[in-house]
Amino acid sequence: MEPHVPRTARIALNRPIRRLFDYLVPDHITLQQGQRVTVPFGRQSATGLVVETDAPPPEGITLKPVRSACEEWPALPTETFKLLSWASDYYQHPLGECLFTALPPALRRGRPAAEKQEAYWQAFGDPASLPGNAKRQKELMAWLQQQCGSASSKQIVRAGFTQSQIRSLHLKGLICEAPQPSPAGVPEEVRSRIPKLSQAQLDAAVQLPAPENGFAASLLFGITGSGKTELYLYYLKHYLGDRDQALVLVPEINLTPQTVARFQHYFGSRIAVWHSALNDGERLSTWLKIRNGEPVILIGTRSAVLLPFTGLRTIVVDEEHDSSYKQGEGFRYSGRDTAVYRAHLNNCPVILGSATPSMESYHNALTGKYSLVKLEERAGNANPPHIKLLDIRSRPLEGGLSRPALQAIEKRLQEGQQALVFVNRRGFAPAMMCFDCGHMVECPRCDTRLTYHRRDRAMRCHHCDFQAAATDHCPKCNSDAFKPVGQGTERTEDILTTQFPDTPVVRVDRDSTQRKGSIQSILKKVNSGRPCILVGTQMLAKGHDFPNVTLVVVVNADGGLFSVDFRAPEQLIQTLLQVSGRAGRGEKAGEVLIQTCHSDHPLLGTLAQGNYLPIASQLLAERESSLLPPYRTMAIFRVEASTMEMSLNLLDDIKLKAVHSNIETWGPLPAIIARRADRHRAQLVLVSKSRTRLNRQLASLCEGLDLMKLPRDIRWAIDVDPLET
Ligand code: ADP
Ligand code: ZN
Ligand code: ZN
Repeated sequence: MEPHVPRTARIALNRPIRRLFDYLVPDHITLQQGQRVTVPFGRQSATGLVVETDAPPPEGITLKPVRSACEEWPALPTETFKLLSWASDYYQHPLGECLFTALPPALRRGRPAAEKQEAYWQAFGDPASLPGNAKRQKELMAWLQQQCGSASSKQIVRAGFTQSQIRSLHLKGLICEAPQPSPAGVPEEVRSRIPKLSQAQLDAAVQLPAPENGFAASLLFGITGSGKTELYLYYLKHYLGDRDQALVLVPEINLTPQTVARFQHYFGSRIAVWHSALNDGERLSTWLKIRNGEPVILIGTRSAVLLPFTGLRTIVVDEEHDSSYKQGEGFRYSGRDTAVYRAHLNNCPVILGSATPSMESYHNALTGKYSLVKLEERAGNANPPHIKLLDIRSRPLEGGLSRPALQAIEKRLQEGQQALVFVNRRGFAPAMMCFDCGHMVECPRCDTRLTYHRRDRAMRCHHCDFQAAATDHCPKCNSDAFKPVGQGTERTEDILTTQFPDTPVVRVDRDSTQRKGSIQSILKKVNSGRPCILVGTQMLAKGHDFPNVTLVVVVNADGGLFSVDFRAPEQLIQTLLQVSGRAGRGEKAGEVLIQTCHSDHPLLGTLAQGNYLPIASQLLAERESSLLPPYRTMAIFRVEASTMEMSLNLLDDIKLKAVHSNIETWGPLPAIIARRADRHRAQLVLVSKSRTRLNRQLASLCEGLDLMKLPRDIRWAIDVDPLET
């Protein structure tokens, strides 16, 4: 008889540690990679994911056995597992946390991978058989008979009955379980809006990669309003088989509910959504559909790319340049880049669409890694807007708006059209200043100024949660020459309301859209088409289709022109062109006025011509000569501690260890906002020509850091392909 060799498994736990845990596998359990298990951990039990089976048992250590397998199938199928392992390695984030990101919260907590099916009931027997005192039960029967078909337990309880009444009727055989009603159809109003593709759209469509040819990445450069969304719909309709799954990544869903409606119109109940506002039950339900291979077309934000698809046929990344694809905390992955890798693993195409492609993607298109498909005319009868720079150096301003800008707004309103005013800061004013002593109110916990919010008479820090009551007098010298400086959305809203008392002014920023459903009611107002003025931040630049907006005013374009962040010019141009793209999407011509103190700045000059690609080429040339991404790979070590000295010291240590001859280091330096919520932040930038070399170096640096005994209040993180420097 052969000696009994104990079976072991290597398990990942949802913990921020760069290691796995070994367990014995009892004889009655068979495990495979990606499967969920319950294991003893310390004095408790934890949910884990199997990484390796039959790993050699470590010597001299007695292992504890796995308690149970949560289900017989792997929660993370092979491709998804591979994707997350790749991401863990590429972004230098602990495997356990990466793997668990792909599970819905309920499954992370060890709940069963099944939906609680809600029971539906229908009346079945004769209520006359009930005893006379069962009055409520009789009423429930009568109520059920009035419902068309059936009602769920929840609906019954909401109508004023109790679970125990349902139970006793069920026991008596007077009601029985009914099949689940099928999901509601698509609203008719959406159905009636299907345009035929234009010739330009059809020409673009044939250039997009076909799924049967396997992996291919394509950059769809389509100017704002060129009908990219329509093109995605056409593409999916054309190529998706009845059993196929597809993924459409979008930066934010809640801001553009019309997009989801357009997809639903074409694909009905095949459409599922994935975003941060879903509750745990909805997440589990959608996750299960995807894992079970149902032919879902998923419209989702960043983390949707990590879901366990089993029949993924194609991926679309809309507005691929959008910075919200990059996670800024914890597992700092890029949803867009992960989507490209996922397409590669799944051997399917990926389409990256944008009117203002990122430097990375455009560079990939120029070097032939991606194909470049162009869509350079607007759909329908719309023409690109006319962009004009308005130099405001010596012009008097009213609430930040120049005379010509106000006159242009007035003209549009008189013609029955709508105007959009873009301000890049929420609140009333970005600072309060004393005109006697020069004092400016700063956050006591951060190196930033407090923003004045007049609506609720508060001074708020936009970088931590600090807030104080606003005062009329300078807190330092008590002078009453204490005034707001600069423009915020509230202030612009006020001035516009005074100037145009008969016109609705609608403010769209994080403050005005906090309540659930508020963005929907705002959009409804705008889509009614009646004259109004929209005032808002970035939120207004994203993907909206307002056919009656014909004028866009940018209050101040200069913020990004002289920033130390090398990505600032790219982001400025993208925002300006995206917000400009909201003008003139319907029949009427659009106009854009950009207020600036630097109308002679070459970047703005090129922007005024409205063509993005020449600007992108110019920016790429600058990146190349400064040895910056995408010509170099970059990673940043970010450290925060209770003193700047501690942060800088740790980074100095790291720098000493980053010995590889082909890696350059810049810094360490304090971060742009050096102190945030009383933590002192610093960073060390690593740059290399070779991604592989940098990756290896990072891995060894992390290993070193893991072995170091660091003071408790020091935190470090690696940011690979950082968006903020
Ligand atoms: P993008 O996503 O490129 O900004 P959209 O797909 O939102 O553009 O299209 C812009 C507008 O043009 C929408 O109102 C859309 O319904 C309309 N549109 C798109 N394609 C066509 C077409 N072929 N004919 C008429 N209108 C179209
Ligand atoms: Zn003062
Ligand atoms: Zn603060």
